[in-house]
Amino acid sequence: MPTLKFAVLPGDYIGPEVMTEALRVFAHVAKQEGLTLDYAIADVGGAGIDNHGKALPDSTLKLCEQSDAILFGSVGGPKWEKLPPKEQPERAALLPLRKHFTLFANIRPGLLYRELADASPIKSERIPDGIDIVCIRELTGGLYFGQPKTTTTLPDGDVQSIDTMIYRKSEIERITATAIAAARARKKKLCSIDKANVLETSVLWRKTVTDYVAKNAPELELSHMYVDNAAMQLVRSPNQFDVFVTENMFGDILSDEMACVCGSLGMLSSASLGTRKNSLGLSFGLFEPAGGTAPDIAGKGIANPCAQILSVALMLRYSFGLEKVAVRIETAVKKAVTSGTRTGDIAFGGKSVGTKAMADAIIAAL
Ligand code: NAD
Repeated sequence: MPTLKFAVLPGDYIGPEVMTEALRVFAHVAKQEGLTLDYAIADVGGAGIDNHGKALPDSTLKLCEQSDAILFGSVGGPKWEKLPPKEQPERAALLPLRKHFTLFANIRPGLLYRELADASPIKSERIPDGIDIVCIRELTGGLYFGQPKTTTTLPDGDVQSIDTMIYRKSEIERITATAIAAARARKKKLCSIDKANVLETSVLWRKTVTDYVAKNAPELELSHMYVDNAAMQLVRSPNQFDVFVTENMFGDILSDEMACVCGSLGMLSSASLGTRKNSLGLSFGLFEPAGGTAPDIAGKGIANPCAQILSVALMLRYSFGLEKVAVRIETAVKKAVTSGTRTGDIAFGGKSVGTKAMADAIIAAL
């Protein structure tokens, strides 16, 4: 019986609520498939601060080190937002985790089922087949990590903050390789998004992507787009993209925009992969919902668990090589959601069936 060893980091607010349901769905499918789940649950984010004095406790990092993958919830919320920025849950837990495991590639599918086209803010006649695109975001470089990163009071009394945007050619090449793999598995179309008319890092980005694709994947149809235009095109006609690749900050913004046009943050998950291989020789990765901790609905039992459940599917695909089981979960989610069982989250509106009932419907569809 194959054993799947992973760390479970539920995090804060709705994190534990949706994680409980994702683990219940996972246990069900594991039983059906004859898989043994070997996991431990650890504090992260605000829970880490409250229980261990640190957003990323040493014991949590150790557990991740000993695992083949990380199933992550989400962290942060009003309870900790008065802490100094450097100690805030997201900055002090998620960013160091990404950095520690060099999780440089964030793969975020943007999927809206045809049956739910009315959930998108885009007119449904513009997306008759729903939406099916993939965002590949560079995750460990650029403005979020570049040094110096400072705030100083100047001699004249004014205050100045500096963030630094740095990219190396090698960092751009390795994310391009991830994007090539994703594009090859789909329609062989890749769009690279930058701001090469203004930023030095984007000039390097564009040249590197162009050269790397020409050398390693000449069969792909490669295009380039400025980020401001891309933001517009995503809401005009999202399916003109198939796979797009971009740097860290642009990807942060565009992937949330993508989530919005896809109807709901509660439906989208992501995989963050790096150079590290796990004990199975596959990609060690961190798998999480696209949304945050949704403090506004926490404790009400109405959070949509689909994104967390779909994160399990991504973990099965990328870290455990179990494509068939991943597709089974994805199909069950689609079946449950399109057959009328919907949580009343941001996209779907209306009356919520609740987090648990949503997971029940997915289990019934498995
Ligand atoms: P959010 O994604 O938590 O919420 C935005 C809106 O989407 C809210 O109305 C929320 O109710 C809704 N929503 C999100 N997930 C949902 C779900 N599964 N089901 C139903 N509705 C859902 O973003 P925010 O309000 O900007 O941030 C809240 C906190 O989460 C902040 O502390 C932020 O720093 C943190 N955050 C964490 C992560 C992460 O851990 N990766 C990501 C984003 C935000």
